[in-house]
This record gives sequence, C-alpha cells and structure tokens, in this order.
Amino acid sequence: MDERTRVLAAGRDPVRNEGAVAPPLHRHSTVVLERYADLYRDDIRTYGLEGGAVHEALRTALIEVEGGAGCELVPSGLSACALALMAFVSAGDHVLVPDSVYGPTRRLLRNTLARFGVSADWYDPRIDGPGLEALLRPTTRMVWFESPGSLTFEVQDVPALAAVCAARGIMTAIDNTWAGGVYFKPFDHGVDLSIQALTKYQAGHADVLAGAVLSRTPAQAKRVRATFKELGLGLSPDDAALILRGMRTMHLRMAAQDASARAIAGWLETRPEVAAVLHPALPSSPDHALWRRDFTGAAGLFGVVLHPVEEARIAAKLEGYRLFSMGFSWGGYESLVIPCDQQLGQRTIPWRAVGPLLRYSIGLETPADLIADLEAGFARLTGS
Ligand SMILES: *Cc1c(COP(=O)(O)O)cnc(C)c1O
Repeated sequence: MDERTRVLAAGRDPVRNEGAVAPPLHRHSTVVLERYADLYRDDIRTYGLEGGAVHEALRTALIEVEGGAGCELVPSGLSACALALMAFVSAGDHVLVPDSVYGPTRRLLRNTLARFGVSADWYDPRIDGPGLEALLRPTTRMVWFESPGSLTFEVQDVPALAAVCAARGIMTAIDNTWAGGVYFKPFDHGVDLSIQALTKYQAGHADVLAGAVLSRTPAQAKRVRATFKELGLGLSPDDAALILRGMRTMHLRMAAQDASARAIAGWLETRPEVAAVLHPALPSSPDHALWRRDFTGAAGLFGVVLHPVEEARIAAKLEGYRLFSMGFSWGGYESLVIPCDQQLGQRTIPWRAVGPLLRYSIGLETPADLIADLEAGFARLTGS
C-alpha cells in the first residue's frame, strides 16, 4: 500500500476502542499493573512517561513515513535535536554541523553541549565527500545534516556525505523537517537518525509543539530510548493526539502547499524587486539537480533575496500584509513571513547576498489571493 494510505491506517483499532476511529487518549502518570512480576519489566509500559495508545499510533504513523527501527516522541523539535545529540555524544567528542543548521541547534551546541565538553565545527552545507573527509577528526563522533538548510535552503549531497561517514564508522543525523519525512527518506541513504519537528507539517495547524527522533537500527533505537527516559522528555497525550490528527491530512496539505509555493516562487522570480528566490525546486536553483535526484517534492517554505532597500520599507511591506503574518515556525495552514538577516549573523561562513533575505511559508490560502497580497506588499516596498 502507498505511504499515504498506510498513514491513514496507523493505530486504528475500532473494535478494541469501542468503535472510535481515533485511538483512546489516556492521561496517565501511574500505570497500574496486576502482576507483581510485571512491575520491573522494561518490555511493557510501566509509567506514563512512555505514553499510551495514542503515542503508539503516532510512532507507527511516523515509521510508516520514514521507516526505521524505532521512534521517540518529545515535546518540541528542538528537544528532538537535543535528544539525538545527547544520546550519542560524550565529553571529548567532536560534531560537524552544516553552517545552515537551524539556529537553536547551533545555540545548543555552542552553549550547553560545549559546557559538557562536546566541540562542534560548522561546515559549508554544499561540501562534497572529500571536503567533508578532510574535516573529520579522530574524535568526530557525529556528522549532522539539514537539507535544505534553514533560511538559505542549500541542498546537501546526503548520500555522498553519509557514505563517507559510514566508511569511517561515524554516526550521521539529519534534521529532516523541511521534507516532513515525506519527500526525503534518510534511511534509504544510510543516515542513522532522522529528526522531525512535528510542530511543522505533521501538526499543520500552528497549535502544538512536538518532535521525534527516528533511528535506523534497533541498537540505535534502544540507545535513543534509554536517553529519552533519562531526560524525561515525554510528550503529553493531548499533544500526541493533535499531531496524529494532523498526520492524517499531511500528505494532502503538503502537496497543495508545495504546488502553491512553487507557483508563487516562480512569480516572485519575475519581480524586479527580487534579486533571487531560494527554492531548490526552481530550475534556476544551484541545488536543483541534487534536489531532483533525492527528493520527491518540496515544502512550501523558501527564501527571497530582495535588492538593497531601506529596512523601514521592508517593515512597511511586511506589516501591511493582509494574509501573510509575521511569525516564527512554519508548516501551518496559514501563510507566514520573517526577515532573516538578524539570524544570519550567527553564521561562521559569512552570508553574502545582494540584499535582505525574507523567508516565506506558504499556507493553504488560494494562491491568487496570496499573490495579490504580495503584489500590494511590493507597492509598499517601493513606495509606488
Ligand atoms: C522548527 C524547527 C525545529 C524546532 O522545532 P520546534 O518544535 O519549534 O522546537 C527544528 N528544526 C527545524 C529545521 C525547524 O524548522
């Protein structure tokens, strides 16, 4: 059966659940056991931290999408990044991270993990296999990927980079949030861990935070599970139910948002105010060939580089939108925009663009309405 069909079936058991299509949502800390011998077993559920039927259904749905030997659910995408790192790195270890990494992951490495003796270096996301090999140290424990990168959307040659790491026994992890797990399959390329910010397309409605770490092998899954329990990162059943509900329509929403975003990105490319559109599905993208080779679709999230313009003009353009709201996060049904230059200052490799960078998340509104809103925005930008 197709992936979309399997996600719709995941965790459904109406006979066991008194006819309900959705799995039961149990709020529990204590799990009462009938048999003395069961209390200290680790192969059955003995405490609320491990979740209940709704968590099990959500884990099943996520594994239907990405595959893998196990999946842990945590309270945010960022805590999923933290769990993936903390499960495997130790004091003295070195981690390589693309310079286009999600900003808070960089902050975690620079602060908390540095305090625990983990060092990190930031590499050019478009690096090739030999280039990455030259950066590896004897202490390199893990290589992190994020493709396309946050804000600047560079596509990484994940198969080539993962092969270099696998040959040296170095673990690999990917923040696969942009593709939602749907349009890129890390385990097919030998990547060890896939991280999802479920807050984005899985949730789809901008009303819940959650994250997941999926592991390729049973041994990795066991280690992630042990660290998950040590850190006590449990996800509430209410939040798990919201994410599961979102996943039932995720493939349809993503396809609609992808089509809409590509149409809008193409239109933006024709605008005189725009210097470049950063979207790997556009044939003009330097990453287009790589994206076509490895991805089956695109998120509705992309960047727009404007020609140099006064910041007050950008503020007028963004504040005046009727449909695009200014706000962080993305993947919801509503369109969003943020200015990015403030975040790009964190990078090791200086970001050089002709002008300011904006990031757009395209929602489920009718594309013509969004284009009309963008068109009015350009009038505010140029003062025409
Ligand atoms: C949003 C995001 C995260 C973090 O997710 P939260 O649920 O907001 O913590 C991690 N990685 C990427 C690429 C993201 O876009």
